[in-house]
Order: sequence, then C-alpha cells, then structure tokens
Amino acid sequence: MSDLQDSSAEGNGFRRLAAPTEGDYALRREVMVERQLRKRGIRDERALAAMLSVPRHEFVPPESAGEAYDDRPLAIGHGQTISQPFMVAAMAEALKLSGSERVLEIGAGSGYQAAVLSLLARQVQTVETQEELALACRERLQRLGYDNVRVHIGDGTLGWADQAPYEAIVVTAAAPDIPPPLLAQLAEGGRLLLPVGTTEAQQLQRVERRGAEIVTRALHNCRFVPLIGQYGWKPRGG
Ligand code: SAH
Repeated sequence: MSDLQDSSAEGNGFRRLAAPTEGDYALRREVMVERQLRKRGIRDERALAAMLSVPRHEFVPPESAGEAYDDRPLAIGHGQTISQPFMVAAMAEALKLSGSERVLEIGAGSGYQAAVLSLLARQVQTVETQEELALACRERLQRLGYDNVRVHIGDGTLGWADQAPYEAIVVTAAAPDIPPPLLAQLAEGGRLLLPVGTTEAQQLQRVERRGAEIVTRALHNCRFVPLIGQYGWKPRGG
C-alpha cells in the first residue's frame, strides 16, 4: 500500500508522518478488495462487501495498524496470526452463505473473520482456547457493534454443542484430521471448511453433509497455525 501513502502525501512532507485517518483506511480497503480479492477470483459480492466494510486495522495490534491491509497474515500476539485477507474472503465464499445461517467458527483469534462472517450470516458462535485472546476479541466485537457474534472460551475441536446444528462451520487453525464432533454438529446440507494436513502445510477442505453422505472437496493449499486440542494437535510439552 506504499503507493497509496505516497499519493496522499503528494506535495506535503508532513502528511507522510501523520497517522492514517479512517478515510485512508477506507481507501486501503477498497484497493485490497480490488487487487487482492476481485482480481484473484473472489466473485461472491456479499463477501466482497463484507471485506470492504470490516475495519481490519481495528483487529491488529496498534503498532501493525499501518500494515493491516497488506497482502499477508499478521501477528496478533500469543503466537497467533490473523489470516491473510484473501484467505478470509476465500473461506467466506466457500461457505456459500445467504444470510440465514447459524455459523460456528473455531479459532476466534482477533475476531476479524468472525466479524466478516457475521455480516453474511444470521448468528456466529466462535470458540477460542486462549482466554486472553478470547476476552480481547469479545470486547473488540462488542465495541465495534458486531452483536450477532458470541465468543466462547474452550476447546473448539469439541465444537460448541449448545447451539448445534450449524449450517456452516469454519476452522481457522490447521487440523491433523476432521474432528468428529464438528461433523456431528453439522446440519443437513451444511458446509464444514477446514485446513487439513501437517503443522507445516495443509489443504483447505470443504466437507458437505448430504443425508448419510459426506462429500469432501479440496480447495486451496494453505498454511495455518496449529489447532491444539483433544481432536487436534497435542499441546507442546503435554
Ligand atoms: N480467525 C482468526 C485467526 C485465527 S488464528 C482471526 O480472524 O483473527 C487461529 C486461532 O485458533 C488462534 O487464536 C488459536 O489460539 C486458536 N485455536 C487453536 N486451537 C484451538 C482450539 N482447539 N479451539 C479453539 N481455538 C483454537
């Protein structure tokens, strides 16, 4: 986005040093949607509109706000990352949301992806194992007004049985296999999206329940942080 910074700084040496305004961020979002998403094949107009609307710079540490719209994942503390914008959009598109769905997200992290999904579905339940991340995420989503998202603290490999079944489930951390509780909590016709593979490299898979049949399709290659829990990877040293 350095070209944008340069153009807003034209003929004004001081502007370059000033913190970006909300208007600058809005412009960066537009460029992100055009160059990183639309140009690379994201077609779902509702998903594109959601990506245009959610202030990603509010979901990263303040010192990274200037990089919030860059084409890459960013560190959010506690060894975790907020996914690259393209991956968030590609996942939203693959879930084929129409607005009526109950969605379950595993791996709330910053809450960014949950915020995007909340604009595309009726209700989002998101589960996070790390308490500090979960509490910060809950506070942030509340402050920004995403009031159809509920943040839960727990092991998301067990799903969130309370509100099951879900028309869409998305796992934003890498799983060694499909956690059985997630399949069990998937509604008829529902879509489960998750990265499956090793801790180093995975394939994004879309699993659909059609009656007794489970149909699995491989989408993108990807790299996520590990899913740690009963049906994920074992905690380090434990
Ligand atoms: N969707 C997030 C990015 C998530 S990074 C965002 O938009 O910011 C993956 C997250 O999954 C991390 O926060 C990590 O702590 C969490 N995680 C790992 N194992 C988990 C588990 N078993 N249950 C719930 N969350 C888990």
